[in-house]
Amino acid sequence: MKKIKDSTIVLHSEKTKKNILGAVTTPIFQSSAYLYPFGDESLKYPRYGNLPNQEEVIEKISLLENAEDGVIFATGMAAVSTTILTVVKPGEHIIVQDQIYGGTTSFIEGLLKELKIEVTYFDFCSEPDFSKVIKSNTKAIYIESPSNPLLKIIDIPTVAKISKENKIISIIDNTFATPINQKPIQLGIDIVVHSATKYLNGHSDLIAGFVASSKDYIKRIRKNSRDLGCTPNDITAYLLARGLKTLAIRVEKHNQNAIKLAKYLSEHKKVNVVNYPGLESHPQHELAKKFMKGFGGMLSVEFNMDADELNKRLSKLKFFARAVSLGGVESLLCLPSETSHSYLPKSEREKLGIKDTLVRISTGIEDIDDLINDWEEALS
Ligand SMILES: *Cc1c(COP(=O)(O)O)cnc(C)c1O
Repeated sequence: MKKIKDSTIVLHSEKTKKNILGAVTTPIFQSSAYLYPFGDESLKYPRYGNLPNQEEVIEKISLLENAEDGVIFATGMAAVSTTILTVVKPGEHIIVQDQIYGGTTSFIEGLLKELKIEVTYFDFCSEPDFSKVIKSNTKAIYIESPSNPLLKIIDIPTVAKISKENKIISIIDNTFATPINQKPIQLGIDIVVHSATKYLNGHSDLIAGFVASSKDYIKRIRKNSRDLGCTPNDITAYLLARGLKTLAIRVEKHNQNAIKLAKYLSEHKKVNVVNYPGLESHPQHELAKKFMKGFGGMLSVEFNMDADELNKRLSKLKFFARAVSLGGVESLLCLPSETSHSYLPKSEREKLGIKDTLVRISTGIEDIDDLINDWEEALS
C-alpha cells in the first residue's frame, strides 16, 4: 500500500482496527490485572505499555516520526531522562545544546553529573559543526530545535551527518516543532523525544511523553522505562490518543495563526523584534525552510517599553492568559524572565539575549482576527 499521510495516520491505525466489541474508538482498559496465558498475546500489564490505548499512541506517533518503534511515557521528562540514561553511561561524555528546556538542564546538572557523566554545552544554533568538542568518550549529542525561547534553528541534517561520521548517537527534543512540521529521523537523527503534554495532546489537560527511534534503541529504552516505572495509565493514553486525532489539523492552524501574528507584531511600533522562523527577517529562515514543513505556533517578542508598562498592557489581553506550558488549542503567553530563565541573574539572561521585556507566545487556534485585535487593543 502507498505510504499514508500524517492527517490519515492520526485517525487510522492497525491497533484501532482490533474491533473490540465493534467499538470505533479504542475503549479505556481500567484494569491492572489480566489473565494468563492469553492466546498468542504477551502478558498484558499497564506498566509494560501494552494496553490498547497505549499501543494506539505508540503506533501513531512512531509512524508520524517515521520511526520503527516508540515508547509512551508518563511525562516528557521521563522520556528525556530515560533516553539519556539508556545511551550514556558513567565515564562517558554527552554534548548538549546550550539553551534547552529547564527541566532537562536540571536533570543534566543534577543526576547526570552525580553519575559522573561528562557534559559539554555547545551552541549548535550558531555552529552545527561540533567536531571540536568531540572527545574519545563522547557517546551522544542532545539538541532542541526550534530553541526556547528565542526560536533559533539548528542545522539538523548537518548535525546528524557529523554524528553518524563520528559514531555518536544523536537525540533531539522535537516538542516545539511536532512531527507534522519536522521529521528528524528522516533528517538522520537517531532518537526523537517529546513532551506529549504540549502539541501532541494539544488540550492542556494531561501530562505525557514519547520516544521514537529504531527497534534496537527502543528495545533498550522500553526495558529501562518498565524497570523505572515510567508508563502512563490507560486513561492518560486514551486522552492522548484522542488529542492526537486532530494533531495535523491543529498544527496547520497553529502555523497559519502564528505567521500572521508574527507579521502583525513585527510591524508594530511598540515591538523591537519578533523571533519566528517563518518570518523572512529570521536569520535562519532559509535554513528552516529546507527541513520544516511549517514553522509552528511558538514565537517570542521583545517589546519596546519598560517592564511596568509591558505588564499593564499584557494584563489587558483577553485571549492570551499568562501561564507556563504551551502547545494547547488556547493561546498562552509567558515571560521567560519570570519562568524558564528566572533562576539566572538579569545580566546572565541578557547575555543569552533574553530581556525582561521578552514575551513567549504559544499561538492557539482561535480566529486570527480576534487574536490580532486583542493585541491591537492592548498595545494602543
Ligand atoms: C515541557 C517540555 C518538556 C518536559 O515535558 P513534561 O511533560 O513537562 O515532563 C521537555 N522539553 C520541552 C521542549 C518542553 O517544552
